[in-house]
Amino acid sequence: MKNKKKPVEKHDLHVKTGDRVILTSGKDKGKIGNVKKVIASENKVIVEGANMITKAQKPNPMAGIQGGLNKIEAAVDSSKVMVYCTSCEKATRIKHDIVDGKKVRVCKKCGEQIDA
Ligand SMILES: [Zn+2]
Repeated sequence: MKNKKKPVEKHDLHVKTGDRVILTSGKDKGKIGNVKKVIASENKVIVEGANMITKAQKPNPMAGIQGGLNKIEAAVDSSKVMVYCTSCEKATRIKHDIVDGKKVRVCKKCGEQIDA
C-alpha cells in the first residue's frame, strides 16, 4: 500500500532565486553560491555548485542524451543556507525595509540592500 503524500506546509523562504548564499552545514559548509532554484513546497533550495551529487544518466539516443555520470546539484534544506552579504562579506540575516515606498531586503549587519 502506498502512503499518501503528506501536504507540506508552504513557507516563504528567506532566500530566493538569484540570492547569494552561504552554506552553514554539511560537506559544503562555507561554500558560497547563487540560488539557482527555490523549491518552496519542500523548503529546499538548489545552490549553484553546492551539494553536488553524481547521477547516472541512461543513454537515450532518441533524445540525444549520452549516457554516463552527470554531476548535478542536489537540493539543500533552506535552513542550511544563509544569505551572504557581499557588502560586509558575511553570512547575514535580512530585514525588510521600505526605501522610496518599495519593500527591499537589507543586510541586518551593514544595512546594505540585498536586492541589487
Ligand atoms: Zn552586510
